[in-house]
Amino acid sequence: MLFLESKVQRIQEDLEVMARHTATPGQGVTRFSFSDEDRLTREYIKERMKQCGLMVYEDTAGAIVGRRSGKNDQAPVVMVGSHFDSVKNGGPFDGPAGVVAALEIARVLEENQVMTEHPIEFIALVEEEGGRFGGGLFGSRAMAGKVSMEELMTYNDKDGISMAHAMAKFGFDPDLIGSAARDPRQLRAFFELHIEQGPILEATGISVGIVEIVVGITQLEITLQGRPDHAGTTPMDMRADALVAAADLIMKIGRLAKSAGNGTVATVGKISARPGAANIVPGNVECTVDIRSKKEENINFVVRGIERELKLLMRRNPAISYSMMCKLAIAPVRLTPRIIDILTAEGNDRGISTKLMQSGAGHDAMVMAGLTEVGLIFVPSKSGRSHCPEEWTDYLQLKQGVDLLLGAVLAVAQKIT
Ligand SMILES: [Zn+2]
Repeated sequence: MLFLESKVQRIQEDLEVMARHTATPGQGVTRFSFSDEDRLTREYIKERMKQCGLMVYEDTAGAIVGRRSGKNDQAPVVMVGSHFDSVKNGGPFDGPAGVVAALEIARVLEENQVMTEHPIEFIALVEEEGGRFGGGLFGSRAMAGKVSMEELMTYNDKDGISMAHAMAKFGFDPDLIGSAARDPRQLRAFFELHIEQGPILEATGISVGIVEIVVGITQLEITLQGRPDHAGTTPMDMRADALVAAADLIMKIGRLAKSAGNGTVATVGKISARPGAANIVPGNVECTVDIRSKKEENINFVVRGIERELKLLMRRNPAISYSMMCKLAIAPVRLTPRIIDILTAEGNDRGISTKLMQSGAGHDAMVMAGLTEVGLIFVPSKSGRSHCPEEWTDYLQLKQGVDLLLGAVLAVAQKIT
């Protein structure tokens, strides 16, 4: 059987051009949404889309859409794409790898004059990272009709410019944000290729990860209130040291995540101790806890365990009190089994090794799963690094992911279901 194949040189060229559009040359890729770098990259993507005959437009949230007609042009559309914004001082692959995968699939279909039954839309989304305005997953949430005008008014960048203002200045009308919403009945499927951003594929020598589930995330904010005292005159057994209590708690949180199983992870990524002086016993500590798991019950197990530990801490030292607030709770998202089967079969047919995985990071695909059938694949990240200038994926490994995705997109787009 003859397979359509992508061309690695074109993939490499696209990625190299896009990586040059950065606000921080020499210090990785910084490409915030609705910035000069966004504009340059946007023009490049649109030009490439037009070169392979796509009908190109931008939706009211700033996503670039390149549409390729189907034999049955009224049939629901198959979408493929990712985002092209970046974090501050990030790498060249997080996001653009999936956008370039879409561009390359469009080129392969065009040069082989493949006519699919369903129309296909090649998509490049913005503000997935929330790098400029916070929030994130913006383009896909807008497609799901989940971005309100209020959000555009309240989310500001570090210079105090609201998202609504930045969009208007860039040439989009924020009042029309609601029009970015897509009708689920007009969607057949959404496919995304992304770099793994972790070490598993490289460590196992497997070419492509097929995501089964995007983990759920719960973020807590914990405050421990003790008592600030003189560090020289207060005996050890008469202190209410909030930082010592926090240290004890943090050790336990790691153990709780391990005993929850199912790859559950928990991270205390931010901590502050006050008053914050060498000669004062810390009276107040605030810390965050980020808990992720593919099973909600495992997340709940850790949360309950943390509450139990806090109560024990207080019993041991009644001079310490605590408060715990839930700041974020996103349920795990299961991707479409039928699409997972198609991706797996495509890997087998092409001799590309695959592995079912979970995604520990959020992706646009997870939002799109609320609208349509979704497939998400990972390609290996060198040393598991991401969100840093060292982020790298071998171009030939990326090509394998693109080929597998191409086959799966075709398998779905060729059949009217
Ligand atoms: Zn990303």
